[in-house]
Amino acid sequence: MMECPFCTGESGDVVWRDPVLRVVLANENGYPGFARVIWHAHVAEMSDLPAAAREHVMRAVFAVETAQRTVMSPHKINVASLGNMVPHVHWHVIPRYRDDVHFPGSVWSAPQREVPAAVLAERAAWTPALRGALVAELNRLPAWPA
Ligand SMILES: [Zn+2]
Repeated sequence: MMECPFCTGESGDVVWRDPVLRVVLANENGYPGFARVIWHAHVAEMSDLPAAAREHVMRAVFAVETAQRTVMSPHKINVASLGNMVPHVHWHVIPRYRDDVHFPGSVWSAPQREVPAAVLAERAAWTPALRGALVAELNRLPAWPA
């Protein structure tokens, strides 16, 4: 059986964590601000979690989305849960721009264009502000388990 990267490592730069989940900046090439919400335990499907836990996960996802919108003003946010390669509950929360590599396709689709380094550098420069906004938004979540 393949080792699960979310069980064996943090899988990104941890910005916030609580007893059940963490939020990481994924440092994906071409996508400054790409974040993941990762449940700590190895659980395959959202429906494996009790309802209150699912709600907690989604609150975290929407907190990340809010922080990204506030700081990065993307044209769209993509929220995705696939897990075909890694069947461990995690959500991708991705700021998207009309001039990004894959727009309007998903970030996993065929590249459409190259993004000038200066454009990426400008977006990457928002990372410290994004980290602050993420922590502020996530600290507002109702604690779970209570
Ligand atoms: Zn796992």
